[in-house]
Amino acid sequence: MAGVDLGTAERGLRDWLAQGFHGSMHYLQRHGAKRARPAELVPGTLSVITARMDYLPRATADGWQAIEWQRLREPQQAGVSIYARGRDYHKVLRARLQALATRLADAVAPLGARVFTDSAPVLEVELAARSGLGWRGKHTLALRRDGGSMFFLGEIFVDLELPPTPPIAAHCGSCSACIDVCPTQAIVAPYRLDARRCISYLTIEHDGPIPVELRPLLGNRIYGCDDCQLVCPWNKYAQRATLPDFDARAPLDSATLLQLWAWDEAEFLRRTEGSAIRRIGHARWQRNLAVALGNALRAQPDAEIERALRARLPAASALLAEHIGWALQQLTASAPAPPATTAR
Ligand code: SF4
Ligand code: SF4
Repeated sequence: MAGVDLGTAERGLRDWLAQGFHGSMHYLQRHGAKRARPAELVPGTLSVITARMDYLPRATADGWQAIEWQRLREPQQAGVSIYARGRDYHKVLRARLQALATRLADAVAPLGARVFTDSAPVLEVELAARSGLGWRGKHTLALRRDGGSMFFLGEIFVDLELPPTPPIAAHCGSCSACIDVCPTQAIVAPYRLDARRCISYLTIEHDGPIPVELRPLLGNRIYGCDDCQLVCPWNKYAQRATLPDFDARAPLDSATLLQLWAWDEAEFLRRTEGSAIRRIGHARWQRNLAVALGNALRAQPDAEIERALRARLPAASALLAEHIGWALQQLTASAPAPPATTAR
């Protein structure tokens, strides 16, 4: 449980926005001070109940980080963030938080309650840290000693005054592994993320062209990026999900780039039904794949990839055509490939 006075976080939020680190996520700016003022976002709110849910798929093998690093080293494989391989977490968490809110209302009626998960106007990590669900890591995500950071967050805003649960101590210490490993150097200082450079933002939130100078650094990551979490020593203690909902759906944990490139829009919509990936739409999905295919071509020329890219050109939008053009240019790119991910 957390109180609703997030005053000390408000200044940090304002600075972050003022520096433009939010990129084109203008909705973050639009919500303004409300993000740091739960009682303005939902009038009458007196406390926030915070919740977390582990999402590592149940079948995750021991040593899963090594498996993930290996996938990222294989240019023709597709890198999809672990959290997105199963059912859309928004749906799962919202339904469960709503069920919890209903049970609370049955016990203490009348109760005003509103649930959120991964919602733009809510400072989720701040609330999680204040209520003791984890500490804010240098990569800006919440983490804890007995669970790492591989979990989703959700909140219930209530009009009840609840005693806050105390924060837990931070244990990043002198570690800077997440900052050092980030392929695009998006963590510009401890606890400070320049979203404009973050691969998660670029492949999911960002509409429009991916900045050319960052494209080689995306490697084969086509939806999100887990590097700063893969390297974090506390994720040795990340827990498997208890629900089947987050089990990886084939082929998202083993697909090649070419397999996914072959999906037309109808197949994309069918295959991503009930998945968070569907939210980015087929156009961004293809844009991301074109960049990754270009990176694969630079690593090693491949006639099949070249053919597949060219085949899409006639019907491509201007945005996709430009990315395909860039990808084909990688065949002759004289620049050396970016350094391989410093995988552990
Ligand atoms: S998600 Fe990837 S790109 Fe973004 S901060 Fe973490 S390591 Fe960097
Ligand atoms: S990698 Fe190190 S610095 Fe980064 S969040 Fe984990 S413990 Fe903290």
